[in-house]
Amino acid sequence: MIRQTYLEVYLKNIEYNVKNIIEYAKDYSYHIAVVKANCYALGIKAIKSIVKGGANYLAVSSLEEALKVRKLTNLDILVLEPINIKYTDIAFKNNITLTISSLDYLKTIKDRKFKCHIKIDSNMNRLGINNTKELDEVVKIINESNIELEGIYTHIYKASDVNITEEQFRKFEEITKNIDLSKIKIVHIPNSDTLVNYKKRDYVNGHRMGIIMYGFNNKLKLKNTFSVISKVLNIKEVKKGQTVGYDGAYTANKDELIAILPIGYADGITRNNTGRYVYIKGKKYKIVGNICMDMLFILVDKNVKVGDIAYVIKNIEHTNEIARHINTINYEVMCNIGSRVERVYKD
Ligand SMILES: *Cc1c(COP(=O)(O)O)cnc(C)c1O
Repeated sequence: MIRQTYLEVYLKNIEYNVKNIIEYAKDYSYHIAVVKANCYALGIKAIKSIVKGGANYLAVSSLEEALKVRKLTNLDILVLEPINIKYTDIAFKNNITLTISSLDYLKTIKDRKFKCHIKIDSNMNRLGINNTKELDEVVKIINESNIELEGIYTHIYKASDVNITEEQFRKFEEITKNIDLSKIKIVHIPNSDTLVNYKKRDYVNGHRMGIIMYGFNNKLKLKNTFSVISKVLNIKEVKKGQTVGYDGAYTANKDELIAILPIGYADGITRNNTGRYVYIKGKKYKIVGNICMDMLFILVDKNVKVGDIAYVIKNIEHTNEIARHINTINYEVMCNIGSRVERVYKD
């Protein structure tokens, strides 16, 4: 490692978390790990630990992601978005399961051979079939084709709201009322939050776990799975009234010590991270001034030395704090971590 900025991924903890989630979800048969976006930016090497933890199906966003994941595992892989119809044969050859998200889409690929799950739109208004009539026609076309219907699913969009979520389950039941769900191998609905906050329905036998695998959940005892680490590159003694960095955005209130870290917005530390903390030797220090593309400034004291390790993102709690500070969600804080940041895998 040449640049002293890296993302540490704790593989044993990912495996531990997945084991615990699956123990909690033992009434389900299909534990689908959503490993899209390179495992929420931690890198697809995490898949080995996710599979060791007991995941028995994988899901990704695109065929491109599925083909990358296919190199690592023989498990089934579901693509959550409709793929370009030109590539259904590649999907079939690689045992990649496709999503049928509308009747029109099915009509364009109904003469091909592949395995699919039907996506139901239960009020999210993103992808999926949202009425019984269309669903009945989709099932009829599939039954008359070479397409294997393996699963059916929907997505919960606001698990924090019981009424909305109950209405989503009700809507799913209504749309699928002419189908014998017990005849479909995999019926999967819950994402991470739904899994831990709602009881299992009899007709559902699968869940899709995502962010919870990385420790984001208060109900189960899970472990931290990653840290973004950098090392103090330089320390500046700044006199009272002097400014720091681009546009002189920070002015020293008194004689101060400013440490420079080699990590910036090109690494995913967006400029609105200014004002939040990083951890050095267990102590919090504030990011000041304008964050540069490759570096940022922190206000420190004389305990901080060049070469000291700085936790730019320390753990779950810190990730959540950062999300609040930059007015987003923990998912985005993770996905922001730039591809330039080297991934270092620890057992
Ligand atoms: C990303 C995604 C998930 C996983 O969501 P989490 O909230 O991370 O558990 C599940 N299902 C679909 C359709 C998704 O897009």
